[in-house]
Amino acid sequence: GRDFTPICLERSDELGQLSRSFSDMGNQLQDYIQRQRQFVANVSHELRTPLTAIKGYSEYLIDEVKGQPDLAKAVDHLNNESSRLTRLVNELLLISRLDAGREDFLFERVNLSELVKETLDKLQSRAAKYTIYFEEKVEPDVTVSGDREKLLQGILNLLDNALKYSPPGGKVEVGVAADGSSAYFTVADRGRGIPPQDLNKVFERFYRAANAKAVGGTGLGLAITEEIITAHHGKIQLANRPDGGTKVTVTLPRR
Ligand code: ADP
Repeated sequence: GRDFTPICLERSDELGQLSRSFSDMGNQLQDYIQRQRQFVANVSHELRTPLTAIKGYSEYLIDEVKGQPDLAKAVDHLNNESSRLTRLVNELLLISRLDAGREDFLFERVNLSELVKETLDKLQSRAAKYTIYFEEKVEPDVTVSGDREKLLQGILNLLDNALKYSPPGGKVEVGVAADGSSAYFTVADRGRGIPPQDLNKVFERFYRAANAKAVGGTGLGLAITEEIITAHHGKIQLANRPDGGTKVTVTLPRR
């Protein structure tokens, strides 16, 4: 019969080489990504100290320039911008620690219902400023196993978005519920919604939908929240509501 062996050997060797170079490329890419992440972590860390000083001095100046409207306006601006920068740097640091698996999660029994109510209380004065009304539909004593601080940060990010992207006078429905295996945290606003083509992209770092550009933000909140929820073996989904606005659903395994 005909002998195909030499050809097959040659082919399999080529395949072998190809797969080795792919794997080399993969490793190089991993290294590169790793170095980029480390770079971002280092830069953020280095920015913290000077920023703390800028923020400190600008706060000190607020009192000093009282009664001088032009100066007061400039100092107010300085103060707001340094707050914004501080937030950005803190978010960058958190996200690079989450990436590197260097952020510790302290799991304990967390009463999700109470945590959500506490967060709503914290946001009450901001909500009043935007004239937004939170409608609470919180089942009592839904508990999960989680890191309290991290969950708080995630909940805060989502409620903060609902406030930011809602028109004044809007209503935001906040729910906590549970079934046999899962706990659910939902936030439904009546704001501008998210263009359908952006629904998946808004979880990417720095991605902001075109209809959000006029509102202040870093584009990191959802990326951080998703990492936090994933670390809790949960998931987060965004959808547009049929009558306008956005609904976020966070599903967490029950304790
Ligand atoms: P930020 O709000 O700082 O821009 P996020 O990561 O929290 O960053 O959100 C990313 C983007 O997702 C926002 O810029 C906005 O386009 C969109 N988005 C998030 N939440 C809402 C919401 N409740 N309503 C409308 N758009 C939203």
